[in-house]
Amino acid sequence: MSWDSCAGALPDVVPAALRALTEGRVSSALSTRAEPGTHRILLWLIDGLGYDQVENALDFGLMPHTASLLASGCAALRPIRTVFPSVTPVALASLLTGSWPGRHGLVGRYVYHSPEIPWVDTLGRRANPAGFQLLEPTLDRETQRWHVPYQVIMEEGLRDGALTRILHPLTDRIATYVSPLALEPRLIEAANDTQSGLVYAYWPHLDAVNHVRGPFSRDWSDEITMLDRVIGSLAAKSTLGGAPVWLWVVADHGHQRVQTFLPYWQLRRQMPELPVIPWGTDRMAGLALDGAAAQKLSRLAAQLFGDQVVLRPAEQLFATGEMGPEVRPEVRGRLGNWLLETVDGVVWAWDPDRQPQRAANHGGRSAEEMTIPFLEIRLR
Ligand SMILES: [Zn+2]
Repeated sequence: MSWDSCAGALPDVVPAALRALTEGRVSSALSTRAEPGTHRILLWLIDGLGYDQVENALDFGLMPHTASLLASGCAALRPIRTVFPSVTPVALASLLTGSWPGRHGLVGRYVYHSPEIPWVDTLGRRANPAGFQLLEPTLDRETQRWHVPYQVIMEEGLRDGALTRILHPLTDRIATYVSPLALEPRLIEAANDTQSGLVYAYWPHLDAVNHVRGPFSRDWSDEITMLDRVIGSLAAKSTLGGAPVWLWVVADHGHQRVQTFLPYWQLRRQMPELPVIPWGTDRMAGLALDGAAAQKLSRLAAQLFGDQVVLRPAEQLFATGEMGPEVRPEVRGRLGNWLLETVDGVVWAWDPDRQPQRAANHGGRSAEEMTIPFLEIRLR
């Protein structure tokens, strides 16, 4: 699938929701069924749910509730594209600021921060130790600006993590659940709330299933069936009268099966000046190198890994527009100046003592990783 064959992208979703909830005062490139005058939107982010997975699940008959909502005209499904690199922190920052990575500045899982704190793990368990902030206003600020009541539903264990602090710095209404089974009643309650507004709910478990077992595994089909049951239950139990309530199901990225892990430490053994874990993602090692070191690395990487890796200047990535139409000057150094990227199906393994057990991964440009669903369901 080419880059332009999807009409709409992840950064357009929240502006489209605000358009529907503010009588059209916000603009968005994404056309939606929900129109100005909408009462509530439940934005449900299912981590790791690629569009190919939804298409196949519908074909396999694993999503009967969604299929019948689509057949009845109460729901609509289409592919949109996510941002690059296709990893959770980058994508969620794009969703929740309505902007591209080159503007909001969260350009990888590990990013350069400052001379004092050279790298930040944006998925770390500690609460944003470096005080890393997005360069664009987050959705909690935007909803205050437009007087749209806003609420977040997420798993208790994620409440204090770095990414939550980065993405929801001003959110005072974060409802958490401990058991995954509690999400369904929380969503039903949110759908039937008489107050208007926007609800953002985050579901991490499908991503975990895909990493360990892979999409289209037995565990994947169980998870998909369960998610479809929640969708059916929400549609059946939304009883509120009056203005329309919508459920929007989106994802941050899809998954691709892993064929090979590349031992990064073999590079470090011969170039000890390389960092233990580079900036970037599991697919893209971001490095700060002078010209001579880049040449040495290029030779060494070709010797060890052949055509499984590609070394290119970070500026080349920015020039392609994959991180958005513009990249702020203060964002340019956050991945270093050289990127050592793995090709599709190949993933870096950083740690010599811990071989990663991953059936599938993401962070690259393949259609499976980059194409995500935009599923709109009118709950009433
Ligand atoms: Zn993941």
